[in-house]
Amino acid sequence: MAETMKAAVFTATEKIEMQELPIPHVGDADVLVKVKNCGICGSDISYFFGLSPTGKMPIVLGHEFTGEVVEVGAIAKGMGLFKPGDRVVVNPVQHCNACYACASGHTNLCANLYVPGVNADGAFAEYVVIPAENVFVVPPHITDDVAAILDPLGNATHTALRFDSVGEDVLITGAGPIGVLAAAIARHIGARNVVVTDVNPYRLAMAARHGANRVVDVRSEGLAPVMAELGMTEGFDVGLEMSGAEAAFNQMLDAMNHGGRIAILGIPAGPMTLDVNDVIFKGLELQGIYGRRIFETLE
Ligand code: NAD
Ligand code: ZN
Repeated sequence: MAETMKAAVFTATEKIEMQELPIPHVGDADVLVKVKNCGICGSDISYFFGLSPTGKMPIVLGHEFTGEVVEVGAIAKGMGLFKPGDRVVVNPVQHCNACYACASGHTNLCANLYVPGVNADGAFAEYVVIPAENVFVVPPHITDDVAAILDPLGNATHTALRFDSVGEDVLITGAGPIGVLAAAIARHIGARNVVVTDVNPYRLAMAARHGANRVVDVRSEGLAPVMAELGMTEGFDVGLEMSGAEAAFNQMLDAMNHGGRIAILGIPAGPMTLDVNDVIFKGLELQGIYGRRIFETLE
């Protein structure tokens, strides 16, 4: 096998250069994946334009990828989980196994998370090395194109399944790719109403095609009349915040029912002001969400 590979290296703001880099070394617990498809995440765009810092520079970006197993490390081989040629998808988020959260079994809450394409070289390259425990074989009925979006689908799954939504009225603020996927999940698992807000008609139309029974362009429509139209007398039971926008978050707090539960995935650009009175006097439960649940999406 060759010793070097082509990689698109992010060297400075708005600059990516094609370079020849060494193929990464495969550790005993690792798998070497030949990248087939790699998505462009919103965070890749934000790194490219210098809106948020990467953990390392220069760096190969890209963390939403699928590919084929080329080499399996000794331990991973011993476990018999993978063989060369397996079609796989990767959960890029690696945990340390050393911090308190990891030691107590909550590896998704690891204090030292490590992500290729953010802290180390990622998948805008021919090969990536990744711990075997982060790799999943893709069933034959899932195409490569679909497998490449299992990372954001995993984010949507993690958020949408955080609170029980069966028979509930669900409000999703933000119809980006993840908000639209969350609408499909909320519909699939049996929510009563799935209402999605955004300020972008194209994205709202996509949400309407994928599970929302009512979409709301908040530039021209308020939530109160929409709730009345749907026969909702109090407020939303479950909120999925997927915009990172201060206005959307406050609108959600205002529209929640007493005892409502909110899962927060959207990452704001900076500190924001929230009306905490709604949280207190309605007894709202707020849960931050980080990372993805990919395994559930492979069924
Ligand atoms: P995105 O930026 O494509 O979508 C956000 C949407 O919010 C856009 O369509 C935008 O028009 C909409 N929006 C803006 N203002 C609004 C308002 N006032 N009301 C309603 N909608 C409004 O993002 P995405 O890729 O779908 O991801 C969703 C969010 O989740 C982003 O903030 C992203 O950074 C974050 N994220 C978090 C994690 C995590 O682990 N916590 C992982 C991935 C993504
Ligand atoms: Zn840890």
